[in-house]
Amino acid sequence: MDWSAWSTARLEEIRRAGRMRRTRSLDAAGPIGRLDDGPPVVSFASNDYLGLTQHPHVVAGARRALETWGAGSGSARLIVGSRPIHGALEDAIADWKNKDAALLFPNGYAANLGVLSTFGTAGTLICSDELNHASIVDGCRMARAAVAVYPHRDVDALDALLSRAERGVVVTDSVFSMDGDVAPLADLAEVCRKHNALLVLDEAHAVLGPHPEVADDLDRIRVGTLSKFLGAMGGFVAADRTFIDLLTNKARPFIFTTAASPADCGAARAALEVLRSEEGGALVARLAAHVERVAPGHPSPIVPVLIGDEAAAVRASEHLVRKGFLVPAIRPPSVPPGTSRLRVTLSAAHTDEQVEGLLAALQEIEPLSIGA
Ligand code: PMP
Repeated sequence: MDWSAWSTARLEEIRRAGRMRRTRSLDAAGPIGRLDDGPPVVSFASNDYLGLTQHPHVVAGARRALETWGAGSGSARLIVGSRPIHGALEDAIADWKNKDAALLFPNGYAANLGVLSTFGTAGTLICSDELNHASIVDGCRMARAAVAVYPHRDVDALDALLSRAERGVVVTDSVFSMDGDVAPLADLAEVCRKHNALLVLDEAHAVLGPHPEVADDLDRIRVGTLSKFLGAMGGFVAADRTFIDLLTNKARPFIFTTAASPADCGAARAALEVLRSEEGGALVARLAAHVERVAPGHPSPIVPVLIGDEAAAVRASEHLVRKGFLVPAIRPPSVPPGTSRLRVTLSAAHTDEQVEGLLAALQEIEPLSIGA
């Protein structure tokens, strides 16, 4: 077997399909940076929705943890890479999410793998929204459970699936990462309650909500990430203590990996302090105002700008770069054919002028629609 020839052939297939990708470098600390040594652009391509990656309190939190415990944790949590900052951050997350307890994972991706492989045992049916994030798709693959994919946001279809299941898990993004629309949380909760199903919410992008009802009889797991609006790196699960204890003992993406770095945990804990302060409320309001300006009524900072054709989406993205705005083109397989789009992500760190500038530039490319 000539693996080099095999790889070259696979790459040729990708190239022929016009889907060749490579990493680019954005030299930035905040929204403005130079893309691959080009002129400065304003990035609308980040999940740093509140600008907390650059917040002095967050950077100081990282620095303090770095100086206290060093650069790395050295081993997995259970043997014993746990530093006091891990537990302190988990307590803060549990309090924020209104849950008994929380558990850190290396990232949100691993948190989804951990939850779905732990609760999706043989004999379980996992019901997953068709537009769920890739990490949920991969978590379903890792689970021993049967998996049923239900049409996007279709609670009736879900109800029908669950009525045939002995033990059901329902998993959904609460904000969908490519469309920026939201899951019908109240209806999902009702159906899960009816069938005693476990509801797993991936709240990675839920900076503006939707916020699920709190303190009730429903079995619910809240997955999230420190890597987006908390400005750091890492993932977490917040849930009842029993669920967290089970994950601690069973979730392989938690058990068999090194504990998160102290600096990431210190940054995230400081970010939570900012988020839950008056200043955090103001940042969220500022972000909501930007969303309202770009796509009135749209529920999240992920704003799809529908172009349709793949090549046209790439041309639109290139045009915007020339105008000084970085907005990625999203194409199949990330989205269905014919729905290629620009994906604008807004941040409280954007100035009003930057948002106005983007809006004007978008008018020049005449998109089919802006927002969900
Ligand atoms: N869930 C969703 C909905 C996401 O969009 C992402 C990141 N794109 C993740 C999970 C993974 O989070 P992380 O980047 O922390 O691995």
